[in-house]
Amino acid sequence: MINLSELTIKKVHDHFKNGDFTVLDLVKEYKKVIDEKNGDINAYLEVFGDIEEQAVEAQKRFTDGTATLLTGIPIAVKDNILIKGRVASAASKILENYHATYDATVIAKLKEAGAVFMGRTNMDEFAMGGSTENSAFGITRNPYDLERVSGGSSGGSAAAVAMDGALCALGTDTGGSIRQPASFCGVVGLKPTYGAVSRYGVMAMAASLNIPGPITKSVEDCEVLFNLIKGVDRLDSVTIEGKTSSEAKSIGVPRGFLKEIDKEVLENFEQSLNKLKSLGYEIKEIEIPNIEYSVATYYVVMPAEVSSDMARYDGVKYGESLEGKDLVDGYFQTRGHLFGKEVKRRIILGTYVLSAGYSEQYYNKANQVRNLITKSIKKVLDEVDVIVLPTSPTPAFKIGEKTDDPIQMYLADIFTVAANLTGLPAISVPSGTTSLNLPLGLQFMSKHLEEDKLFELGKKFEKIN
Ligand code: GLN
Repeated sequence: MINLSELTIKKVHDHFKNGDFTVLDLVKEYKKVIDEKNGDINAYLEVFGDIEEQAVEAQKRFTDGTATLLTGIPIAVKDNILIKGRVASAASKILENYHATYDATVIAKLKEAGAVFMGRTNMDEFAMGGSTENSAFGITRNPYDLERVSGGSSGGSAAAVAMDGALCALGTDTGGSIRQPASFCGVVGLKPTYGAVSRYGVMAMAASLNIPGPITKSVEDCEVLFNLIKGVDRLDSVTIEGKTSSEAKSIGVPRGFLKEIDKEVLENFEQSLNKLKSLGYEIKEIEIPNIEYSVATYYVVMPAEVSSDMARYDGVKYGESLEGKDLVDGYFQTRGHLFGKEVKRRIILGTYVLSAGYSEQYYNKANQVRNLITKSIKKVLDEVDVIVLPTSPTPAFKIGEKTDDPIQMYLADIFTVAANLTGLPAISVPSGTTSLNLPLGLQFMSKHLEEDKLFELGKKFEKIN
């Protein structure tokens, strides 16, 4: 018996090297958990049929001496990241049987390292949502409470790690989709700096906002995985060179921005600040002008990009296709029947904010506000090293609680979207649980490419938590 709950990437690597157990032993152990729990939780849309073969291949690298830290590490992959030859559906009917024709750069890096891909995880359709309720293939339930959501859109990845169905996972974050499910499921999630990790082979939802990143059980694992997947990629022109940053000393709290949040989230936040003080950090009250407009700005910029990024799914180039009376009717049939409600809502909204006569008023205005928010956050980050916020204003909510009210669902992104609008890195670290034993997360945000700072701080916080 392997105690899965205590494992980290480094520990597993040592166990493999010492011969305590083999890659196959470990993979079988995770598979057992998946067989037992996935029926209820639905974290995985598909568990790959060849995990044992992958494990045997990885094991060889421990014999021939080419093993690296990620060799043999079982990882779950969000269903919008391409793995050559495997289905990548983005949890949409329109791509239900679509097989990827190439590897995403992050996947190529993991393959080279010899990681074992366990399967593809559930998500909100095309990453549009915050609860995984927008999946065309069923809800992912929260491993802590099956009546509640796992968060989203990377809910399947977060739940897979939380239920011990994989040691780590990849997600994508356009407006909080790595951090929020991580906080709902009691695990760690990093949205890297825009450009730090290649988006090549990751299905775009809103290309100026989204990026893939790690979901793990510890900050150390998050760092290990990030260091493997990061880097300049000639296939993604926005990628940039990383740097090493110095230790954080001061932490800014934008108290004026903490209105209307759950009482227990606020209490937990105050306790977390005290813990940070006890670790020697200087806690400063800060103001971030215009940050209160983040959600409004995001929900104009994002749908505008969605309307253009979704244009490629026309039933001709990719995926499923429905017959129509003629070519144009075929587009209507395919897109009308195979896209879900939320995807259509965003395409319509986005097309509207870009339409002649309205683009000045909405899209251009939103971009101006995006610049203002970016400037004010950057200015604050010259005064403090890191900004701290709760990851989400509430713990995991009940299934169905927000589905009839998209505005309520959008408001739940209040603390996460600023990092995407500005391109700054942000990490969610578990910060305790509510009286109902629901996990909560604390979010740290730093300057561009200062992931090091977040890891260092996150590791210290995690230790005393
Ligand atoms: N919840 C946000 C949205 O619905 C974030 C999605 C994401 O990051 N992919 O757009």
